[in-house]
Formats: sequence, C-alpha cells, structure tokens
Amino acid sequence: TATLSGLNAWVREFAALVDEHKEELTRLDSAIGDGDHGINMERGMAAVLAALDGAETPSSAALLKNVGMTLVSAVGGASGPLYGTFFLRLASACGEVTEVDADTFAKAVRAGLDGIVARGKAESGDKTMYDALAPAADALDEALAGGSSLRAALEAAADAAEAGRDATSPMPARKGRASYLGERSVGHQDPGATSAALLFRAAASVLG
Ligand code: ADP
Ligand code: MG
Ligand code: MG
Repeated sequence: TATLSGLNAWVREFAALVDEHKEELTRLDSAIGDGDHGINMERGMAAVLAALDGAETPSSAALLKNVGMTLVSAVGGASGPLYGTFFLRLASACGEVTEVDADTFAKAVRAGLDGIVARGKAESGDKTMYDALAPAADALDEALAGGSSLRAALEAAADAAEAGRDATSPMPARKGRASYLGERSVGHQDPGATSAALLFRAAASVLG
C-alpha cells in the first residue's frame, strides 16, 4: 500500500530529484526545445512544496489534487498542464482515502497516463514523456499481476521508464516544440521523458 505519508514523501523526493537534475533537464531542452524544462519543473515543484506546507491534505485525493492544480497554474510550459493532469487524474483514481493499495495505485497511474494522452495526444514513439511513462505503467501492471510487492513493481516501473527515456534518443520528435526540428531532433534524449523517469525513480525509492 501507499500511505498518505508515502505519497507526500514521493512528491518531495520527486522535487528533490528535479532540483538535482535541473541543469541536465535544461541542457536537454536547449538541444531540441527552448531550454526551460529544468526551470519549469524546478519552479513547479518548488511551488508544490510551498503549497503543501500551508495546506490541509487529509486524503490521497486532497494531496494529489493540490499537486496537480499547483503544477497546472505554476508552470507556463507544456509540461505543467501535462504533469498537472497526471496528478489530477491520479487524485480522482486514488480517492478520499489515507491508504492506497497497490492495484489501485497502478490503476491511478494508468488514469494519469490516459489524462496526459487526452491532453497532449502523444503516441508511442513521438519522443515525449509518454515514451517513459507508458512503459512504466505497463511494467507496474505486469509486475503486480506476477505477484510482486508494490515496491518491487515500482522498481520495475522505474527501470522501464529509464529504458523508455533512453529509447527517445534515436526518435524524431512528433509532438511539442522538438517536433519543429523534425529529423534534427534525432540523437537527443527527450527532456520530458527524462523528468518522467525521475518521477518513477522517486516512487520506487519511497513508496510501497
Ligand atoms: P515547453 O515545450 O512548452 O517549453 P517544457 O520544456 O517544460 O515545455 O516541456 C517539454 C516536454 O514536454 C517535452 O520534452 C515532452 O516530453 C513534453 N511534451 C510536449 N508536448 C507534449 C505532448 N503533446 N504530449 C506529451 N508530452 C509532451
Ligand atoms: Mg521547453
Ligand atoms: Mg517553454
């Protein structure tokens, strides 16, 4: 199960990893975008931590909704509404509870991914955060179906997200700013897939 304090720790660990990797995220976005992904994510997660400090978040839904709303409003770039939607869908799917069981968490991740697709229309191979998130959601489902603990399943999911992130390098971008470069985006790792891998690595280190 993922407890409320576990979910809190996840959000904080993601913020810490984003902070640690912000130069890398910016460097990747400078190559194929407008060079602000590190700044966007760092500002967004700093706003999330500030919002959580003053908020009553007695349930998983309240916590995750606060995160999602803050990201949507604090981040100007494409990534803000996309990550924001992910957390808002996660919030609805987890519900007004203080403990989320492993299967519910996996379903919530799937709902979050569906929200990103509804919003950004990304498909597999478009060189976006989807290419890290979708394999992670699949790995999570598969590991849980095979009887793994939530922690072990999240580790499999984080590994899959990192493999998906690495696989974005040879792809030509078909969504977002990088798509303006077309074939010239080949050879560069997608910044959003890179931050998405951090989201799952954070989950694997504190949840379950
Ligand atoms: P912006 O492109 O507005 O400057 P960011 O630099 O913060 O925003 O985020 C860029 C990342 O957003 C990309 O690397 C990609 O992973 C992701 N992205 C962009 N458009 C989409 C989309 N339509 N669907 C999914 N992800 C997308
Ligand atoms: Mg950018
Ligand atoms: Mg931008």
